[in-house]
Amino acid sequence: MITTNLGYPRIGPDRELKKLVEGFWRGKVGRDELLAGGKALRLAGWKRQQQAGIDLIPSNDFSHYDQVLDHIAMFGAIPERYGWAGGAVDLDTYFAMARGTQAATAMEMTKWFNTNYHYISAELDGSFSLTENRPLTAWQEAKDELGLATKPVLIGPLTFLKLANNPRGLAYEGLLADLLPLYAQVLRELAAAGVEWVQMDEPVAVMDLTAEELSLLTASYRSLAEEDTPKLMVQTYFDDPAGNGETLMNLPVAGIGLDLVRGAESLATLEAHGIPQDKVLGIGLIDGRNVWRTDLDEALSTLERIGRRVNLDQAHLGPSCSLLHLPVTTDLEQALDPSIREWMAYADERLDEIALLRRAHDEGAEAVAHDLAENRAVIDRRRRDPRLSNPAVAERLGALSESDYARDTPDQERLARQKERLDLPLLPTTTIGSFPQTAEVRAARARYRSGELSAEDYRSYLDDKFREVIALQENLGLDVLVHGEFERSDMVDFFAQRLDGVAFIEGWVQSYGTRCVRPPLIYGDVSRPEPMTVEVSARVQKMTDKPLKGMLTGPVTILMWSFPRNDIAPQRIADQLALAIRDEVRDLEAAGIPVIQIDEPAFREGLPLQRADRPAYEEWATRSFRLSSSGVAADTQIHTHMCYSEFNELMPAIYALGADVISIENSRSASELLEAFRDFDYDRGIGPGVYDVHSERVPAAEEIADLLRRASKVLDVERLWVNPDCGLKTRGPAETEAALRNLVTAARQVRAELAG
Ligand code: GLN
Ligand code: ZN
Repeated sequence: MITTNLGYPRIGPDRELKKLVEGFWRGKVGRDELLAGGKALRLAGWKRQQQAGIDLIPSNDFSHYDQVLDHIAMFGAIPERYGWAGGAVDLDTYFAMARGTQAATAMEMTKWFNTNYHYISAELDGSFSLTENRPLTAWQEAKDELGLATKPVLIGPLTFLKLANNPRGLAYEGLLADLLPLYAQVLRELAAAGVEWVQMDEPVAVMDLTAEELSLLTASYRSLAEEDTPKLMVQTYFDDPAGNGETLMNLPVAGIGLDLVRGAESLATLEAHGIPQDKVLGIGLIDGRNVWRTDLDEALSTLERIGRRVNLDQAHLGPSCSLLHLPVTTDLEQALDPSIREWMAYADERLDEIALLRRAHDEGAEAVAHDLAENRAVIDRRRRDPRLSNPAVAERLGALSESDYARDTPDQERLARQKERLDLPLLPTTTIGSFPQTAEVRAARARYRSGELSAEDYRSYLDDKFREVIALQENLGLDVLVHGEFERSDMVDFFAQRLDGVAFIEGWVQSYGTRCVRPPLIYGDVSRPEPMTVEVSARVQKMTDKPLKGMLTGPVTILMWSFPRNDIAPQRIADQLALAIRDEVRDLEAAGIPVIQIDEPAFREGLPLQRADRPAYEEWATRSFRLSSSGVAADTQIHTHMCYSEFNELMPAIYALGADVISIENSRSASELLEAFRDFDYDRGIGPGVYDVHSERVPAAEEIADLLRRASKVLDVERLWVNPDCGLKTRGPAETEAALRNLVTAARQVRAELAG
């Protein structure tokens, strides 16, 4: 068997890439230093994969920001507003597209399928040109530096187009006619350089495609098959190809890669139909999305089952998807209980598992008997560990009834009671929770964690910050205030650290650009030993007469942004989390907090990629949210927040959450979104984001007022809220203040217009 990898984490074990890129943005790191640092990371990753015994090591999987943006740059799909003059795209233009500048808004960022990775969406205007053969440059680098022949990775043409924004609704057929010759050129040049395999990522092939899209997929590869290209492995991941299987398996390419971890039906399909004789199978057997060590006995028996229909000797054995979604190595987890650490595998350990399975297959299980025995023992220890179950949690879940999942007052009556209690103006203004997390705030938190700052001093430091941010919000004239979340490093991590059954990890995963997260590890039944946010919120509410919004993270988001246990169903984990949040919501209410926001920014990414699987997800996810939020009185206002803008299909589920107010992203995507809410007759509060927090650009008051005027034409003004489209934690203090000042000015202006 041949061992393969589909992508290696690019940020470095300790977020080295983040430090370089952000240093470059601040002018502290020069261009050469940035490029050299990136190169060092690539070389280290390649060497590690070589040592592990991976035959097909990916290249062009590295990126300074995002691999989709790299393709946008490579194919010259650069929107006019960046003033690009042609030729290879320089770093400044590249980062301007990602982040925006004072003169040009950033390109839209979207979640990568159902992961917590975000990519930059291309804006199709029909013109493409090849600016640079990036895969060739990457391949050549590995060749020159290490004598290593890698496997370049490209995003396939259909996936590239399907992930793009297509505001003018250009037909794929015409776009492909322009794009395919560029792919062909890239591939011809790779072949000429001596590249053997190229991985063409086509994850859209696991989604519901139309007959037309399927025929375009075939036509695309048929046209590439006429060229002199390397062998193409069309790689799918994140699900099984379901109804697209037939087309996928018959593409005129050398290999087809399937995800056997998330693709529930992949194995059955392979057992039933094998794979066409002329093709090599890419076996995505090792979980690239979660961190539990593979049960190698089980993996070997899966291989054996596949082997009855497929020639495994030529097959490529690898992870289920790129290892981008895992931290680099569990060696980082020195602070984690070793009896839990031994259950885990990150990217590097995944490579070892792949190499081990290959040996077991090629040389027989006896050759690796020792490793298999060790694996068996670990799997067994985990299975029997008493920390996995908490009978009290099971009992509470068993005792729930329907009334625990719904507020006991009808919607409109509830909203009226809240209006009376909160006494807010038309177009109330608020923020999404966090305020800038300056280096100073982070340093104080680090000093507290290391014991350098006493609990008392840390508390008084935080109180100063809270007082400062309350004063700022009062001064700006915001209506519903927040405490700024200075005590939190991360919205999921903060809760994870306070819940039983969840462990904190040191490893980092890229979320978007230079933003990295540490997903908590949910290893056992979840429960809340004591209140998590109540003390702080109560303290801060005392600092102001304005209503304070308590800030919580919802059960679905905690689940989605964690590495969840894989021994019980996800909905069961979500319900356990929901109970913990429910207790917190009630305690906040009891402490006098009138508004509570339960953030669910990950609600949509949990959505299964195939439509047929969605109703079941929507059902359990909305129920979990309702369980978390329904335990309060009618005049306590529940907000939720989701920072994306594709709601159309999700609208019934979003409505079913029952939140009194929802804030959403809107500033990059204008009015389509609002139309979805109008068409749905959404009759509760809604705050379309009017300030794009992913860009350092400060929107002018007039610009925000315009957005509000447009929103007020589409939606009932009585329901409209005014807020940024997400938390402000990554923004600088000065730009935040300026933007919020403009936001309040705009709200007042439009309020006056509406009144007059
Ligand atoms: N309350 C969080 C914040 O403001 C929400 C962040 C998010 O939606 N990603 O930071
Ligand atoms: Zn958000």
